[in-house]
Amino acid sequence: DTPIQSEQTAVTAAASAAYRNDRAHVVHSWSAQASLDPVVVAGGSGSRFWDESGRTWLDFSSQLVNVNLGHQHPKLVAAIQAQAERLCTLAPYHANEATAEAARLIAQAAPGDLDKVFFTSGGAEAVENAVRVARHHTGRVKVLSAYRSYHGATAGAISLTGDPRRWGAEPGMPGTVKFWGPYAYRSAFHSDSEAQECERALAHLADVLMVEGPHTVAAIVLESVVGGNGVLVPPDGYLRGVRELCDRHGIVMVADEVMVGFGRCGEWFAIDRWGVVPDLITFAKGVNCGYVPLGGVIISERIAQTFAHRVFPGGLTYSGHPLACAAAVACLNVYREEGLIERVRRLGEELVRPALEQLKSRHPSIGEVRGLGMFWALELVRDPASREPLVPYNATGADNRPMAEFAAACKDRGLWPFVHFNRVHIAPPLNISQADLRTGLDIIDEALNVADRYLVQ
Ligand code: PLP
Repeated sequence: DTPIQSEQTAVTAAASAAYRNDRAHVVHSWSAQASLDPVVVAGGSGSRFWDESGRTWLDFSSQLVNVNLGHQHPKLVAAIQAQAERLCTLAPYHANEATAEAARLIAQAAPGDLDKVFFTSGGAEAVENAVRVARHHTGRVKVLSAYRSYHGATAGAISLTGDPRRWGAEPGMPGTVKFWGPYAYRSAFHSDSEAQECERALAHLADVLMVEGPHTVAAIVLESVVGGNGVLVPPDGYLRGVRELCDRHGIVMVADEVMVGFGRCGEWFAIDRWGVVPDLITFAKGVNCGYVPLGGVIISERIAQTFAHRVFPGGLTYSGHPLACAAAVACLNVYREEGLIERVRRLGEELVRPALEQLKSRHPSIGEVRGLGMFWALELVRDPASREPLVPYNATGADNRPMAEFAAACKDRGLWPFVHFNRVHIAPPLNISQADLRTGLDIIDEALNVADRYLVQ
């Protein structure tokens, strides 16, 4: 063997050992295990990651829309290393510097009087605890959430979820009720404008409340901008209208910002765009880019008072985990010091929106472009006139072929896309370079030729 050959042999052997062990022992999320063929990822840096043979992808999904600063950000890695040397873990009844500082920075970023943080290990646990806080605070049981939403995979969070992932967990948590949120492109209310969609969606929610009995409803849980179900940006006035309904009936408004919090939409929290202050915010992902699992609920002072002399009804061994919180402190400081939130807002409007509108003018398979900041979706259709989706809702196997081919065309060209049903989501790291952003958009442009082939003639 030449040295190069033996290096390659070693890499192949390592990759296949990892692959074999994975296939033998690892159960992966939301997949039929027999059909899986995972990439064995060897490393990453910034907006790219690679496998053991050195094949590299530009990450337009930020993994699961969490790696907001890309892979291996030196400040986050250093903060985790420093904390690991000092103190790796701690029971949650102690205080420590990393947890306290992370909570201070989160409270500083949050709107209004949302000043208290209960830390969890991820988004679903955040939603579970938000619901419990709302139930204890109000003494009521019911929780309303939207169709076309995702809130996590634990018992309560999946019951609130309004997409097919809920089906496997039914009958789920009692007391959940679904409503339709605004989605003008495929309106449940047959609206023909955003303003009408807003008005009708609010009237519908008011009707649901009336029939359920507003005095029985503890919380309305909704994503400020719906994420996994299609980057649905609510029309102006919608979130304010929900706030008013909650105020009128003493209902706790929970903004689920697990995916969109911490800069994704060009605001600290997406809801800030509309100047609406919810009672609780759930967060995870972007709080520390997922370098160490972390999530939580930000609680208004008023609601936090409920637990001043009454036991807080929740607890987790890893609540406020020092390693995770040290990563959060570093991450939140990077967002602020590097002006990333403003950058996202500016680039979203000046670069991404016009580039995607251009794509739409060239590719008739794009039915709609929507989004904000570094959070966009292209909704692909077979027929722009009828808006028939490129693949049916929840398609699998052969039915999903056009989207699978689109994804493969991206991956072959070195781009890792986020594809869900008939949509391409565009969610690169917030600090991606403009050159990489353009490269990724060019690859999507080429790959869309695959989708155009499926247009009805
Ligand atoms: N809520 C929203 C809006 C999400 O997008 C997600 C995950 O994607 C969750 C909750 C669940 O978070 P986790 O997967 O960390 O439990």
